[in-house]
Amino acid sequence: MAVPKRKTSPSKRNMRRSHDALKATPYQECKNCGELKLPHNLCRACGHYNGREIISTEA
Ligand SMILES: [Zn+2]
Repeated sequence: MAVPKRKTSPSKRNMRRSHDALKATPYQECKNCGELKLPHNLCRACGHYNGREIISTEA
């Protein structure tokens, strides 16, 4: 099995981890009902997307 020859230095380890942070989810308000929704996704509260009703929310 291939094994690293040297231990990764704290500096190199931290450089690798500099891209690991998670970003906050970019929620946007639904134009129809004002509920928070994910961009490019159907609104889960009212079923609208791009000003049109795609799915009805009545059960
Ligand atoms: Zn909505």
